[in-house]
Amino acid sequence: MIATRYDLHIHSSHSDGYAEISEIVLRANRLRLETIAIVDHFWPSVGSQRGGKNIIENRRTEIETARADYPKIVILEGAEINIQSNGSLTPVAGGLDQFDIIIGSFHWVSDSTTWASALIKALQNPQFQILGHWDGYLSSYREEDGRVVAQAIADTGIAIELNGRYRPEHTEFFELAKDCGCVFSLGSDSHSLETVGQLDYQRKLASDLELELVEPSTLLSLKG
Ligand SMILES: [Zn+2]
Ligand SMILES: [Zn+2]
Repeated sequence: MIATRYDLHIHSSHSDGYAEISEIVLRANRLRLETIAIVDHFWPSVGSQRGGKNIIENRRTEIETARADYPKIVILEGAEINIQSNGSLTPVAGGLDQFDIIIGSFHWVSDSTTWASALIKALQNPQFQILGHWDGYLSSYREEDGRVVAQAIADTGIAIELNGRYRPEHTEFFELAKDCGCVFSLGSDSHSLETVGQLDYQRKLASDLELELVEPSTLLSLKG
């Protein structure tokens, strides 16, 4: 089993999660995680429900407090951003550069061709370091699309996420991506406190398929 002590996909109460950042970090400490990424959605609807654009600043203050309380845990300030059909990421107030790490995810249903076309465009100048739950919203999958995408991902060095909430349907894509030289990351995609650090399924998948898990610091160095 590969020793990985990180969970790079955690939602907090600042978006559609239910756990406070202080609770998440307390649990991460108990689980002896070394790195966690708090990656909230900043959809306009969520923002307006919970205090508008100050939401990002408020969250940042809480993350800074948590870092001071738990200096041994690397706490990344992240966001999960929608990859749109034209390959761009949904804009966020204050821009994308303010985050330590970004997960780019599809949150709209697409077929294999549309998915590949949007993703290839997004990968030309990638603004994200992790591709989240790659087939979570995929209505069809063709190996030829997977091959083109996997090669493009390998060229950028971004990680393909092994996600516990959206268990992958087409695991053959992982094998193909592995052959192209892609690396992989682990994320619980937790929205509640109990699922923070819940990574057994993802670790087993990585082990069974012999996938190379990335170090979080490698992903951080991708940011220009
Ligand atoms: Zn998502
Ligand atoms: Zn998520």
